[in-house]
Amino acid sequence: MKKMANSVDVIVIGAGIGGLTTAALLQERGFSTIVFEKNKFPGGSCSAFQKGGYTFDAGASVFYGFCDDDSKGTLNLHTRIFRKLGIEVQTIPDPVQIHYHLPAGFEVPAWLDRSRFLESLCQRFPHERNGIRKFYDELESVYDILNSLPAGSLEDVMHLGVVGARHPLKAMSLGIKTLFSMGKTARRYISDPELLRFIDLESYSWAVQDAISTPLVNAGICLADRHHGGINYPVGGSGAIPAALVKGIEKFGGSVRFRSEVLNVIVENGVAVGVRLSDGSEVRAKAVVSNATVWDTFSKLVDDPRLKVPEDRFIKAPSWFQLWLGVDGSIVPKGFHMHHIIVEDWAKYDKLGGTIYFSAPTVLDPSLAPPGKHALHLFVTAETTQWQRYDYRGEEYKNAKEAFARTLLARAEPLLPGLQNAVELMITATPQSHARYLNRRDGSYGPLLKPGQNILLKPQNRTPVKNLYAAGDSTFPGQGVIAVTYSGVSCASYIARKLGKGLEYL
Ligand SMILES: Cc1cc2nc3c(=O)[nH]c(=O)nc-3n(C[C@H](O)[C@H](O)[C@H](O)COP(=O)(O)OP(=O)(O)OC[C@H]3O[C@@H](n4cnc5c(N)ncnc54)[C@H](O)[C@@H]3O)c2cc1C
Repeated sequence: MKKMANSVDVIVIGAGIGGLTTAALLQERGFSTIVFEKNKFPGGSCSAFQKGGYTFDAGASVFYGFCDDDSKGTLNLHTRIFRKLGIEVQTIPDPVQIHYHLPAGFEVPAWLDRSRFLESLCQRFPHERNGIRKFYDELESVYDILNSLPAGSLEDVMHLGVVGARHPLKAMSLGIKTLFSMGKTARRYISDPELLRFIDLESYSWAVQDAISTPLVNAGICLADRHHGGINYPVGGSGAIPAALVKGIEKFGGSVRFRSEVLNVIVENGVAVGVRLSDGSEVRAKAVVSNATVWDTFSKLVDDPRLKVPEDRFIKAPSWFQLWLGVDGSIVPKGFHMHHIIVEDWAKYDKLGGTIYFSAPTVLDPSLAPPGKHALHLFVTAETTQWQRYDYRGEEYKNAKEAFARTLLARAEPLLPGLQNAVELMITATPQSHARYLNRRDGSYGPLLKPGQNILLKPQNRTPVKNLYAAGDSTFPGQGVIAVTYSGVSCASYIARKLGKGLEYL
């Protein structure tokens, strides 16, 4: 192993997608970087693990940003970043983003083919044909704007100047659209309560908030780009994305240090100058980037009570109970889609455990399971409070997890008849596991803005401590792999300019 330098240009705390993206782009631009990751694997909530011949996605598995034809827009950040790094990530196109299974026999796949998707909705809600078109066209217009603007930091005056000068009308129009919510926009065109609930769920499926609480701009990416760049799954599973970013960092001379937990950011005279690791060693840098959550950054890593995040600054999104299964492949019918969402009761869809997220990655990439088997991933929202009475090393905890998993299997049985009897391998994780592995407070999906708050109120990459930056889902634009990739791009752009050698646009 290379001896660790005791000073570099940029230190990144955490090898989540936000941190790795920041490091890869800076290293490629010629800045020396080092990433410290507490685990022995990269990717955080977008990583993979192996067991019993299966490869499972630890969290994320719906991926935007991999369109082959990257002339189609700046939203295809993964394609652009990997092209810049000269690293290949092969992906498999998914014809459906999510197949929804809803109360009263309402079933609809969100097809890559936009007209097919809209037509399915119109078939169920013929009286809302006009409203459906108008609402989804609004999302399309946001998408068109975002897709034509280059990705950069909103804190970088030069970048704002370039965007404003080259695209004045689009920039202005985007500014106005940040004031709108997805749900309120939907209600301008649509009144059918079942359809509005569906639109709430469309938002909840990735934002873990209803449509009223979700900015229109976020929806413009998630619900429009699925019909353009589409959803593409990396060959080898979600771990292929962080693995490729690590490869990119190393290719240009940087390094990722695993099993290296950062205890503190060293701040001298109000300026971040390096980090202290759990083994007591120190490394210095011109800039430090935290890919930890905002709660960890300002309650653990930076020891300054004045910077503690007020409890009411964000809504803390719930965490997850997750279940990974190896199953006899004969229960999965031909043509089964990879991603499904099941809601049995509209009154409970946004309550803890009310919506089941279900994925079967082996329908796209069979190499993730032994021959004749399928790998499945199910999860529902959950809180640490539901599990805190157990000792996580004890038998009681194990039994409680298994009992909860069995209830989930029973609920998912109608989607895949025979499921309960086809299970050959079962792995479970609670919010406590999520918190323990990834240093996420209460295992939370992340900090959310309050309903009605403008998306621009999300923290950007600069922090109140000079030379300390942040990337990841605590920063603009928020949760999701493509969102944290954007935050990494904007963080790297800002730091590169600050250190005297700006990044080229991707
Ligand atoms: C169950 C689940 C399903 C999801 N599904 C999707 C999906 O389908 N599509 C999608 O786009 N998004 C999905 N997401 C969201 C997406 O995975 C996350 O928003 C995104 O991966 C978060 O990336 P991040 O860079 O903010 O950091 P994280 O993934 O939180 O990574 C941060 C890293 O920093 C490390 N770290 C923290 N503190 C320290 C420290 N002090 N020292 C060293 N290392 C440290 C952690 O170990 C971790 O590896 C899902 C998330 C979950 C949990």
